[in-house]
Amino acid sequence: MNEDRGDLHVAIIGAGMGGLACALALAKHGIERIDVYEAASNLGFVGAGIQLAPNMGRILERLGCWESIAKEATEVKVASIRQHSDNRELGRVDFSYVRNEYGTPHMVGHRSSLAGGMYNACKEEKAITFHFNSFCDIKSWTPRPEFTVTPREGTPYDVFADVVLAADGIKSSVRPQILKELGTDAEVIDSGQSAYRIMLTREQMASDPEMLELLEADQVIRWIGERRHIIAYPISNKNIYNISSTQPDIHFASAPSATYTTRGSKTDMLDNFNDFCPLVQRMLHLVPDQDLCEWKLRVHSPLPTWVRGSVALVGDACHPTLPHLAQGAAQAIEDAGVLAVVLSMLPDRSSDSINEALRVYERVRKERAETLIDLAAASCKALHLGEGAAKEERDKQFAALKIKAGPSPDKYLDAEVQKMIMGIDIMEVARNEFLKAFGID
Ligand SMILES: Cc1cc2nc3c(=O)[nH]c(=O)nc-3n(C[C@H](O)[C@H](O)[C@H](O)COP(=O)(O)OP(=O)(O)OC[C@H]3O[C@@H](n4cnc5c(N)ncnc54)[C@H](O)[C@@H]3O)c2cc1C
Repeated sequence: MNEDRGDLHVAIIGAGMGGLACALALAKHGIERIDVYEAASNLGFVGAGIQLAPNMGRILERLGCWESIAKEATEVKVASIRQHSDNRELGRVDFSYVRNEYGTPHMVGHRSSLAGGMYNACKEEKAITFHFNSFCDIKSWTPRPEFTVTPREGTPYDVFADVVLAADGIKSSVRPQILKELGTDAEVIDSGQSAYRIMLTREQMASDPEMLELLEADQVIRWIGERRHIIAYPISNKNIYNISSTQPDIHFASAPSATYTTRGSKTDMLDNFNDFCPLVQRMLHLVPDQDLCEWKLRVHSPLPTWVRGSVALVGDACHPTLPHLAQGAAQAIEDAGVLAVVLSMLPDRSSDSINEALRVYERVRKERAETLIDLAAASCKALHLGEGAAKEERDKQFAALKIKAGPSPDKYLDAEVQKMIMGIDIMEVARNEFLKAFGID
């Protein structure tokens, strides 16, 4: 920590994966005054599984909260890609090499473990104060950013900070404010897709040996069909089987663009996947009708910038992605790691230095995050092919993966993409970029 930097005050808008990771990373890097403002009354919807890739695990390990998260997660040893209709294995990739190659395993876990692990670690840091029920709006940008906090109950009040990090998610209200200055807005790209997120308990699966086998395996499985697929894996000490689907978003066709979730119907879900193999259908039949939520999947075209003055966007606010590469939260956590590096290396608290440091953050993170967004979208096209020559060619590539790691139509399984995602220590890159930008040898 640089002593001349003084008591830097960082405000974080949003306590999702990005906001929690930012708070913890900044505290661990010596920032002494961090306020986190969250509109909701608590940490929000965390009822689903999440893939914990090594680029995420490496950062959380440094922040001291990985052990508690990993404890009940499952280490992925194999990823299997299967024909939706008959459960035939099209391709298979060994993931057990990841731990040795990249220093942290590829795991799958419960979202509440990830969010809770970071939140509990934050609560140990006296630098961090949480303000729930607190909706924020930027009021002015210079010389120091000022924002209005509107509590759910009580009178709105204004706050100044040296740095504001807007980790306010895909529906970010800070993003349009930043882009307005440039006379533009985020161009929403409608994927035409939505997702169901389902969790089955061991008790629900107990009487079906084939299902129990899925629950016991250290395996991620993707069943792929035309325009739809299902990905599934065991979490929570293998007591829960997490299932996430992707299908055409017919229920959102007339919904306004601000709608991201809707109550799902079990009948519609079963209709959607009625040509999937009996094993998948049996699992879907176990879903209680009232528990089903459907998520709309949207992304944006790349934003012209993530930074305005001393305010920066973080996570889904600036790089929402389709889930097919399992990197959305991992990328938000990379943002946090990089922001902690650059803000802790600041030579002083001047707005020029802060803006330059945030520009380093943007340079290190933007292109990488946007590359992964493109790869997730490309995967989706390949996964959802219908019968024909392109599908035959795709399936030959999947078959080749059973023999040797290499290029894959599903970028999640592609050896070079894995190396690019897992093999880069983004905090180290940030450190070097910062030294260059600030002319430090
Ligand atoms: C189906 C699906 C599967 C996925 N699977 C994976 C996976 O396997 N691995 C992975 O890494 N990622 C995955 N993701 C992506 C991941 O969930 C997101 O990228 C990640 O949660 C984004 O975190 P965030 O903090 O940027 O945003 P959010 O989690 O949306 O958090 C934003 C927070 O800001 C608060 N907020 C908003 N506006 C304001 C305001 N004005 N004032 C105060 N608070 C505000 C909100 O209440 C919210 O709590 C998946 C996503 C989907 C949809």
